[in-house]
Amino acid sequence: MLEIPFLDLKAINYQYREALVEAASRVIDSGWYIQGAEVKAFEQEFAAYCGTKHCIGVANGLDALTLTLRAWKELGLLIEGDEVIVPANTYIASVLAITENRLVPVLVEPDISTYTICPIHLEAAITPKTRVILPVHLYGQMADMPAIMRIAERYNMLVLEDSAQAHGASINGIKAGNWGHASGFSFYPGKNLGALGDAGAITTNDDELASTLRALGNYGSHKKYENLYKGVNSRLDEMQAAILRVKLRYLDTEIAQRRKVAAAYITGITDPAITLPIQHSTFNIEHYESHVWHLFVIRSKQRDMLQRYLAENKIQTLIHYPIPPHRQVAYEASKLGMHPLTENIHKEVISLPMSPVIFQDDIDLIIETLNRFS
Ligand SMILES: *Cc1c(COP(=O)(O)O)cnc(C)c1O
Repeated sequence: MLEIPFLDLKAINYQYREALVEAASRVIDSGWYIQGAEVKAFEQEFAAYCGTKHCIGVANGLDALTLTLRAWKELGLLIEGDEVIVPANTYIASVLAITENRLVPVLVEPDISTYTICPIHLEAAITPKTRVILPVHLYGQMADMPAIMRIAERYNMLVLEDSAQAHGASINGIKAGNWGHASGFSFYPGKNLGALGDAGAITTNDDELASTLRALGNYGSHKKYENLYKGVNSRLDEMQAAILRVKLRYLDTEIAQRRKVAAAYITGITDPAITLPIQHSTFNIEHYESHVWHLFVIRSKQRDMLQRYLAENKIQTLIHYPIPPHRQVAYEASKLGMHPLTENIHKEVISLPMSPVIFQDDIDLIIETLNRFS
């Protein structure tokens, strides 16, 4: 019996092989590899997809978040020591973007049913130094953006969405990337919109922020050999942009395929010891489009045993994530607080195979195997 892979990236990209080779050839033959027509076209196409005025390509998702906070500092909206509220239950990049800017991360527990930041805990964590909320659309499900934007407005705070896992998700017809004042995206190969290497972008409707970001990612230069800021080199390149233009055309189809896989898991998995993911839509029909199922994450009190059992049955799973940011060696000394709910989540979660190209037979086998567990 062959193993069911967690994610078969080769199979995903193979679907578009011809178009990808054509796009790569176009770049090779153009003789122009940085900041050219492909990047410009992708930025326009992705901004149109998200419904935003601007999209600025950068080197990766971490840079998208880091540079946005940096740009707000350059624009005088933030100063070192200001507090940024971020969910405790997130991938380390969301927190690194804050500390890299010498801002202070204030970690807040998630809502246990959706794993995204809890608006009630969020509001309770606000202090006179809080300037930014950084919600993370974890596992592909959007945070409660209507509630978060109401809080941000009331306290006059900036909102930076971490949309690295949620390309194409939307609430009330407004996409991830178009709720906050800015949003960071990653096109890491395993993300729902994945390049063939590292890539990222920021979306925003703010003209001033957009031009500051363009300069910051290009050595702080808005005009060749003139430097406004001590910038960095963080650019999306022509090759990845050309690849992403192909893959963007199929993103909505792939999201629909992921939703079908999720629906099959949700109706098929009946073991009462397993906690299934809950969509906002379960509570509110308007939130139906809010989940794009980057990951299908279940919870079990016997997580490690379950993972071993699935591995013995040739089903590959992953843990997202095994150690929360506040428990990482990198942050051990920085007193990021106690977050027992987050720690419990990290102990119990396990991600099942999820992909737009997973076979129906494999989904059936995974469900059947899971239902025999306890
Ligand atoms: C992947 C990811 C990032 C970082 O993206 P990179 O392109 O790998 O730098 C940031 N935040 C979240 C939630 C992610 O999943």
